[in-house]
Amino acid sequence: MFCVKCGKEDVDTINGLCMECFLNGRKLVTMPHHVDLIKCSNCGEYALRDQWLKVSQDDAILEIAMNTAMIIPEARLVSVGQMIERQDEKNFVVHVQFDLDVNGVMTGDEDSTIVRLKNGVCKRCSRQLGSYYEAIIQLRSGERNLDEDLREEVVRYVRRSVDDMARNNRDLFITKIQKAIGGVDFYLSSTAMGRSITRELVDRYGAEEKESASLVGQTSDGQEMYRVTFLVRLPGYHVGDIVQYNGKPHLLSAVSRNGGRVIDLNSFRDIPVKKTELQDMRVICKRDEIPETTVVSVSDKEIQVLHPRNYNTIDLRIPEGQEIGDTVKVLELEEELFFVP
Ligand SMILES: [Zn+2]
Ligand SMILES: [Zn+2]
Repeated sequence: MFCVKCGKEDVDTINGLCMECFLNGRKLVTMPHHVDLIKCSNCGEYALRDQWLKVSQDDAILEIAMNTAMIIPEARLVSVGQMIERQDEKNFVVHVQFDLDVNGVMTGDEDSTIVRLKNGVCKRCSRQLGSYYEAIIQLRSGERNLDEDLREEVVRYVRRSVDDMARNNRDLFITKIQKAIGGVDFYLSSTAMGRSITRELVDRYGAEEKESASLVGQTSDGQEMYRVTFLVRLPGYHVGDIVQYNGKPHLLSAVSRNGGRVIDLNSFRDIPVKKTELQDMRVICKRDEIPETTVVSVSDKEIQVLHPRNYNTIDLRIPEGQEIGDTVKVLELEEELFFVP
């Protein structure tokens, strides 16, 4: 082949030109004068690749600048060198050196663009700031009041669950948490998340659930829009309570959706119980009302403790392999003292 411009013969040509004539004065890469980088003023994430990403400011600036670079189709990008020159808080000049391969010949080009930082609000933040919610979990105690410790425990649990789910889906969040009479209300950004947390609470506390939906309007495309309420009613018993079962005191050691387990305070036997049996049990002593007392001495199958009321020394049987600290929990029932494992 020969070059149509300089006439050189026996050379590889691109568009009829030898490599020298092709590259001579040709711009291989062009970048626009400027490009806008949108940063969410609420969460600090950047709009990149049609989504919102948590990256460093430098990474965001370099990525959006690189995305503007137009490389001629005859060239293949081999590597780049970049430099950010800060003009002020909002404007950054990005200088880029491009190493390019054109038909096996290594060459290069350079250009720059100004990245202008602009404030915006991402979809999640605008929903969150606008108090958007799709579902409410109404958690209610089985008694008149919800115990303050239990309320805090449930709130901590729900927060942690939402955090876990939000890690893979940024549209999931808690809009607000509101105290209510005998319970607490969770306003949530997603119905599916409300349903899954409700299921977790039912399993964890052996609670009852009821789901209801109310029409709240129409979406922009004319679909009916519902808001779903999950009523979660806690039972009157909780893990750690002492309950009456078969006429004897038992420690409630586990609950789930379908039942639970109790430990006989006489034999320390661990017994599975059905939900209906649980519902019939009377709570003798709530978990945070079980008295603690001082351990005087420990032997293989017994310990000596001070009676929590009259300070007499009492021998108590303990289950095999039980670790004993300086204090233990004991239950006094009809003048008899029981070790609570
Ligand atoms: Zn030529
Ligand atoms: Zn945001």
